[in-house]
Amino acid sequence: MSRTPLISGNWKMHLNHLEAIQLCQKLSYELARHRYEQVEVSLHPPFVDLRSCQTVIDADRLEFKLGAQNCHDQNQGAFTGEVSAAMLAKLDVSYVIVGHSERRALFGETDEIVAAKAAAVAEADMTPIVCVGETLEEREAGRAAEVVSTQLRGSLAKLSRAQFETLVVAYEPVWAIGTGRNAEPRDAQEMCATARQVIDDIRRGVGSGVRIQYGGSVKPVNAQELLAQPDIDGALVGGASLDPVQFARIVQAALQACISIKAARQAKNQDRKNQDR
Ligand code: PEP
Repeated sequence: MSRTPLISGNWKMHLNHLEAIQLCQKLSYELARHRYEQVEVSLHPPFVDLRSCQTVIDADRLEFKLGAQNCHDQNQGAFTGEVSAAMLAKLDVSYVIVGHSERRALFGETDEIVAAKAAAVAEADMTPIVCVGETLEEREAGRAAEVVSTQLRGSLAKLSRAQFETLVVAYEPVWAIGTGRNAEPRDAQEMCATARQVIDDIRRGVGSGVRIQYGGSVKPVNAQELLAQPDIDGALVGGASLDPVQFARIVQAALQACISIKAARQAKNQDRKNQDR
């Protein structure tokens, strides 16, 4: 099944709304030299920048999807300081990251909370990007697959079959986030394949359609090899997404990976045809 790669820039708590507008424009300038229709790009600024980014994307007809980094699971109410999925949808937000490891570790988000947020995002007709990933201790104890499986089962528990069909999952090993140490492409592939299998166990038949991103120190230098893996359908990028040149090169790498995957598939089909003759 063909899955359009999704490259998402998680700006975290960086850039005020003026700087955010500049980054959208600079990124658009960097990407204007390339054709990247085969790749989807989402930008996830802080909440206070969303309206400005929405306006510039709209006015300049930029080819970016708008994303958010978090939301509350309730539509409205006495939740001081929170932002609902419905409010984000009104700003033309398409993707909302939920369960990022920083939110799990620093703000106590459990799988149950993540599940409620993912459902709220999907109910508001946006796509949740549900993050999962093991810590270094868990990996060293040989528990990476078990941890990710438990997180997926808990975090996806409230989604309907139809909502699974548009779901995005980000496999982000915690030890690779912001450390400059990315997972080896082969290990990342293995974990994304495991995640796909778990998703298919949860809802039979949907696994092959769900996009699974890899996240954790993705840079131009490692992007192409990571993105060429058959079960990696894009990247969730933190640090490098704040630099328009680097982020544009990651999008380019995704494009190159698409081209090489397509060429490999064609060669395989040709081989099969030759054997059948
Ligand atoms: C992230 O924030 O999800 C992330 C992967 O960050 P970085 O690319 O900086 O490791």
